[in-house]
Amino acid sequence: MKDYSESDKKIILKAYRGLLRASKKFRTTPEDTAYIRKAFNYSADAHKSMRRKSGEPYITHPIAVARICTEEIGLGATSIACALLHDTVEDTDVTLEDIETIFGRREKRIIDGLTKISGAFDLTTSDQAENFRKMILTLPDDVRVIFIKLADRLHNMRTLGSMRKDKQLKIASETLFLYAPLAHRLGLNAVKTELEDLALKFKEPEAYEEISIKLRKSQEIRARFISQFISPLKKELDKTGLEYTIKGRPKSVYSIYNKIKKKKVTFEEIYDLFAVRIILHSKPEDEKTDCWRVYSIITDFYRPNPDRLRDWITSPRSNGYESLHTTVMSPTGKWVEVQVRTERMDEIAEKGMAAHWKYKDSKKKLENKFDSWINKIRDLVENNETDTLDFIDDFKLNLYAEEIYVFTPNGELRTLPKDSTALDFAFEIHGDIGRKCIGAKVNHKLVPLSYNLTSGDQVEIITSNKQSPKEAWLDFVVTSKARTNIKQSLKEEQKQISEMGKETLKRKFSALKVNYTDKNVSELLKMYEFKTQLDFNFQIAKGKIDLSKIKNIVVKGGNLKFEKTKGKEKERKMTEVREIISSFGGKSSESIILGDDSLKQVDYTISRCCSPIPGDEVFGFLTINEGIKIHRTNCPNAVQLMSNYAYRVLKAKWKSQTDKEFSVGVEFTGIDGMGILHSLTSLVTSSLNINIKSLNIDSDDGYFKGELKALVHDTVHLEDLMRKMEGIEGIKTVERVY
Ligand code: MN
Repeated sequence: MKDYSESDKKIILKAYRGLLRASKKFRTTPEDTAYIRKAFNYSADAHKSMRRKSGEPYITHPIAVARICTEEIGLGATSIACALLHDTVEDTDVTLEDIETIFGRREKRIIDGLTKISGAFDLTTSDQAENFRKMILTLPDDVRVIFIKLADRLHNMRTLGSMRKDKQLKIASETLFLYAPLAHRLGLNAVKTELEDLALKFKEPEAYEEISIKLRKSQEIRARFISQFISPLKKELDKTGLEYTIKGRPKSVYSIYNKIKKKKVTFEEIYDLFAVRIILHSKPEDEKTDCWRVYSIITDFYRPNPDRLRDWITSPRSNGYESLHTTVMSPTGKWVEVQVRTERMDEIAEKGMAAHWKYKDSKKKLENKFDSWINKIRDLVENNETDTLDFIDDFKLNLYAEEIYVFTPNGELRTLPKDSTALDFAFEIHGDIGRKCIGAKVNHKLVPLSYNLTSGDQVEIITSNKQSPKEAWLDFVVTSKARTNIKQSLKEEQKQISEMGKETLKRKFSALKVNYTDKNVSELLKMYEFKTQLDFNFQIAKGKIDLSKIKNIVVKGGNLKFEKTKGKEKERKMTEVREIISSFGGKSSESIILGDDSLKQVDYTISRCCSPIPGDEVFGFLTINEGIKIHRTNCPNAVQLMSNYAYRVLKAKWKSQTDKEFSVGVEFTGIDGMGILHSLTSLVTSSLNINIKSLNIDSDDGYFKGELKALVHDTVHLEDLMRKMEGIEGIKTVERVY
């Protein structure tokens, strides 16, 4: 610490003391404390000349990450030390060997993992998908790597305000795309929720603000409602002698935002803005009985919705979540979700895996579950030869999936993601069974392979040796195990076909007196622009390749040489980007400023998938064939584009004044009354000076739904229009559709 100024020292020591306080229960011996101090001193020394974007000494970041690890994820001394050291190898002169000599093998392995991931997630690298795969490959080594990485990301998200706007968007997208699902899968609910909320705050500041304000404003009403709702329950619970706490938990901003978007409802129309949570302080052996006892009390007072009972105590979810959920009708006519769980279950729900280590009984059970999850993932990664983006989709499917519980003919329980089919079940049992599957019996009735299973189904698989995997199967299976397996088998088949192509090529070579060598074949692949030999041979076998072109590149001595400028894929892409930008350069754009102010103004088109108008938050995306397209940052395609093709994303903002008009679509619904059409048309044409492009209204039994296409200047103009439409008698909802 000797190299720091007095004022820096003060800041750093304050943060460090905070870490010590937070990690108190994990430091059981003086050695633990000494070990953490050693890591702190070492890291402080290594980072001494560095500062964060916010201006604080850099070491405050590792300290904050270590604190999150222990305080919010529940990790112990090793993780605290490794979190303190997490950026040393990447950002300073410290080497992995240094870490091993000074701290040990275990620390070296963890830091190594963290550095690799970090390299993989470098902001300048382009291929996020491949990097993600690399990250998953480190999973089996030590899960702590992932926990620390999540803590690191959480702290970076909390301090994202000091980054540049375009970096904020990219980091926020990446967080939604990868980190939040990962936190969810590891059962870190609190971390997941905060990551999502923070990402939304940076991606869509206005929507975030609006929901937060409404949540704050409705807090009092909510509190009053909850206290009325629970008062009869309390009386009864007190009689039982059970110890408990009751909380009314509002949903996260992000989940409300999603609901508004997906279900097309307003904030006011969301009935389950919060859940009532009853947390019991039970002895381990009484947990289940106590929870059901509380359930019985609740349903004595309120009528439960039979479709919404979830018993995750008897069958916990595969991320370890245990709880009993029921949705009941309150006296005011609103459905209310009530969650019943014990303190232990609650801590596991919030802190996940790490909390399990505190509770010996369930530790083993959970480790088994976790191991089997890790194994599934490892299988997936190792056997996967398919496109990496495909892989990510398959993988994400697995991260977010809701689960169903089904039974084998012997009554053995299997957990599958929601929407699984009979064929998924077959692959879940065994790859061979899946590949040979011709049908299934569900609850003794014959069903097709694509049959959608529901919880409680008993499934028997029928196989035949004549069966082989079909491409069409990929249209309905949902588990990554089935997908990978099918793709693998199809690939095998492709291999056999491509063997025939290889023979054709060999014959062609000998006719031209060219040697059949790896070198010559790879020259040929370059010329025909194929990535793999397998693909190339396959296309030859199918007769899709014009082999006569080979003549053009034959060089003496039986060797082929194809000349083309080489260079790494990434560099190629970057030049492509620059070329495209310069080819558009010179023309003046009308309403959008792209990139840094220094960048030459270039042409763009407004993307049709989200049709942004001035006032919307936007970014530019460089397409291969159509130049730069402008998307809204909340465009459904944006998250994927931004996190997978970051190098093609350009900062974009609207010029302040423009006379141009932009096309928008507004959907509205309402109850039919006389003259609605008239009030609508006169409103939009006369009072607002808006050009209508089209107006369609469908009426059905008094209820109508319509779409208005119009030209507006910007979001202010549009909002004005929408507000006035809402004012028309009979119109109930008005919503922008693009
Ligand atoms: Mn870091």
